[in-house]
Amino acid sequence: MKRLPGYLNRIEGELWLTEDERENLKLSYRIKDVLFEEKSPFQHVMVLDSYDFGPMLVLDGVVQTTSMDGHIYNEMIAHVPLTLHPAPQKVLIIGGGDCGAANEAAKYDTVEAIDLVEIDEVVVRACKSWLPEVSGNASDPRIRYHYVDGVKFAAETREKYDVVIVDSSDPVGPARQLFESEFYRSLFKALNDDGLMVCQSQSPILHQDVMMQTYQRIGELFPYRKMYTAVVPTYPGGLWSFTIGSKRRLPEPEHIRFSKKARYANEEILRRCFALPTFLEELLASRS
Ligand code: SAM
Repeated sequence: MKRLPGYLNRIEGELWLTEDERENLKLSYRIKDVLFEEKSPFQHVMVLDSYDFGPMLVLDGVVQTTSMDGHIYNEMIAHVPLTLHPAPQKVLIIGGGDCGAANEAAKYDTVEAIDLVEIDEVVVRACKSWLPEVSGNASDPRIRYHYVDGVKFAAETREKYDVVIVDSSDPVGPARQLFESEFYRSLFKALNDDGLMVCQSQSPILHQDVMMQTYQRIGELFPYRKMYTAVVPTYPGGLWSFTIGSKRRLPEPEHIRFSKKARYANEEILRRCFALPTFLEELLASRS
């Protein structure tokens, strides 16, 4: 019997991936084929072809991005900060090994350099080969790949950036430190005086503790802070949060102008994504 790749099981002859890193919620995806599998020094990397979401990147058994909905997250984590900054030239992406956010940043003519700092080159290789719907060809000459720990890079870089995007996996394994105050302090130092950062801050439904801790930590460092949301179908709970920390006052949403080619983001979405559900507004207010 051919060995089943890790995290997959066979039920009545069908292949299934079950995300079982959560105690009380298990999400399962029926899988057509295993397109890529490799154990890297950091994590177990797979690209699986799923029936409902097409090819998907799976790290240590957890779905990271899919060809069906990856553009929602990648457009929203990139275009919100990049439109809030008047003329972004230097962009730093921490994580983002699926290259989706980097491709979105490359849509800005003002951008001269995109430093993509991904700890695991296997992720980039797998996505470029097997997840082109998300990674594109990611061959824009402005994208400079650095296969190092984002914590180390941020602490040691002498570069100054206009926008920093922390496109991390969940706060486990190598990504755990990307949610720590020390890392955010390094990012603060790496930002120009009018710079801003954004990070994915987990689910307002299922991960309120991490979300609030992230919101608080960024608020302790940055004079201006905002949260916005988007719905990403393959993320547990659907609704997902993003937290911005900015060194300068952010323009009012109605002043946001957007005309890039995108499948989910548009000018109205980028303006209205800051409108938060009442429970979330009250939660943020309770801890501000
Ligand atoms: N856009 C999807 C999402 O929101 O989940 C995927 C994010 S991307 C795949 C997350 C990346 O962060 C992974 O490729 C992982 O290898 C990388 N990563 C985790 N810890 C890291 C660290 N300390 N430094 C740099 N990259 C890291």
